[in-house]
Amino acid sequence: MIILNNSQFIDEKKIWEAIEKHSVSDKVLIEEILKKSLELKGLSLDDIPPLLTIKEPELLEELLKTAKEVKEKIYGKRLVLFAPLYISNLCKNECIYCAFRSTNKELKRKALSYNEIKKEVEILVDQGHKRILLVAGESYPDEGLDYILKAVDTIYSVKNKGEIRRVNVNIAPLTIDDFKRLKSRKIGTYQLFQETYHRETYKKMHIGGLKRDYDFRVTVMDRAMEAGINDVGIGVLFGLFDYRFEVMALLQHSNHLDKEFGAGPHTISVPRIEPASGSKVSEDPPYKVSDIDFLKLIAILRLSVPYTGMILTTRETPEIRRNAFAVGISQISAGSRTNPGGYSSSEKFDASQFSLGDHRNLREVIEDITKLGYIPSFCTACYRLGRTGKDFMDLAKPGLIQKHCSPNAIATFAEYLEDYADDEMKTLGYDMIDKHLKELPPNLQKTTMEMVNFVKEGKRDVYI
Ligand code: SAM
Ligand code: SF4
Repeated sequence: MIILNNSQFIDEKKIWEAIEKHSVSDKVLIEEILKKSLELKGLSLDDIPPLLTIKEPELLEELLKTAKEVKEKIYGKRLVLFAPLYISNLCKNECIYCAFRSTNKELKRKALSYNEIKKEVEILVDQGHKRILLVAGESYPDEGLDYILKAVDTIYSVKNKGEIRRVNVNIAPLTIDDFKRLKSRKIGTYQLFQETYHRETYKKMHIGGLKRDYDFRVTVMDRAMEAGINDVGIGVLFGLFDYRFEVMALLQHSNHLDKEFGAGPHTISVPRIEPASGSKVSEDPPYKVSDIDFLKLIAILRLSVPYTGMILTTRETPEIRRNAFAVGISQISAGSRTNPGGYSSSEKFDASQFSLGDHRNLREVIEDITKLGYIPSFCTACYRLGRTGKDFMDLAKPGLIQKHCSPNAIATFAEYLEDYADDEMKTLGYDMIDKHLKELPPNLQKTTMEMVNFVKEGKRDVYI
């Protein structure tokens, strides 16, 4: 395996040529591409620029409708829930859009002790969470990377009425050897955003610390996958540069991983910049992405890589989130805090990374999405059964994963209803479970009903 030490796979020239070739929208071509996307085989890079030109309301409507169809065919009504856990805001980098940047004196610095991490996790577990995304700035207390490794162990060690079953990690890029150590802690996805794939913009946005090295960052997933971490998550911080370029570059990155490792990224995240303390760029992003363009880009990504999960966080408002679920998002955070200690402490926001758009708690989000017809899922089965990376994609692409996902989503929702829901939520939840069950093929209906009954009888962690 060749580990690239530069970004050969992000071809800026090719991206611009493709975008410039399709500067005006071509209805016939667009409709052809949309039709092709319904085959669920994804789209080629050449198919993307025509879709990016869409401005006309009817074509936009068609794009969103097609993305909704593709999403529902692959993901059904499931929406996976997770909570971010910020364990430290110490950072030696100088990313000018982030409140954690080293020169920000307004920020109260904090690295949680293992006991404090435990306390935070207990709160999340008692709310019903099963998945955590561990997040930290790029500077660890004296133990170095061991701080992160022990933090992962601490999270898994918490056993209350429930437990965290999958810890995903969003920390600075590592070497292959360090990734091997991280993998040994049984993490789920390793997630890292390139922020912008545009080299010149990257340079302007990252003016101090190790993160200035574009190449070390853009090749991070090669190292992670080489070290055996099969599920990786990529992303862009939208608002730093032209979203059309970034969408094309995300797909170039995805194609590269697919070619090298037999599986593209497990997830793509689509954060948009939010105001961060003392950061002018975050208040007034150079390439602010409008709500319409945001939905458009989510829909295009959904059609391009239909089997890659897409993540949306509480940076966005409830309204945008509802629209985004419909056209492509498959995983969401809920009830989030972005300051270390934010779940257990009432003194907030002077240590936060950015301001949030969705302030609702987990219960409120679950009620909302249930009423919208989604199944809130806490499923972690694939990663725990080793259905990761290429193995996952080999099941997902021919549609074989469906027979696992729907039953598992419903069983984990039933577990939530039994252990954490009030009477009102329980009634609503089971009514919706009945509706979803009726939509399943007969053999899956039977299996799923049995699983729900197991949960009602007191069995936990029921999955297939
Ligand atoms: N420090 C590591 C890094 O930079 O990759 C990982 C953690 S960092 C806290 C996680 C992500 O937060 C970054 O990759 C960036 O995309 C996002 N972020 C930073 N500032 C933001 C802002 N003002 N609004 C929204 N997201 C932001
Ligand atoms: Fe530090 Fe990450 Fe924020 Fe950059 S984005 S300042 S590396 S925490």
